[in-house]
Amino acid sequence: MHETSIASFLVEQASAAAEANGIRRVTKVTIRVGELSGVVQEALRFAWDIVTEATPCAGAALVIEDVPVTVRCPKEGTIKRLASPPRFRCPDCGEPTPELVTGRELELKSLEWDE
Ligand SMILES: [Zn+2]
Repeated sequence: MHETSIASFLVEQASAAAEANGIRRVTKVTIRVGELSGVVQEALRFAWDIVTEATPCAGAALVIEDVPVTVRCPKEGTIKRLASPPRFRCPDCGEPTPELVTGRELELKSLEWDE
């Protein structure tokens, strides 16, 4: 399952950060997931409990922040949010928008831990 490898990757990053900072028990992990990343959040949450076992992230809550799809309109020069499923045109003037600004994120944002 794709989400298991994603969860493993995030847990490895979080655990490495925890170990580097002398943190033994992480209580909360916040990640940012773009609407176009293709991640199934339910599957990711399911995988989370399994891949965190025996790591500093065991028992940590997983908080998923959705990152909307945004593009820059080449005509107006401003950043617009696209409805999903996105069509890569400016929602206001209809200009094609090749520049994706956000929406593909899949990254660790922050950790919380017990002192
Ligand atoms: Zn526009």
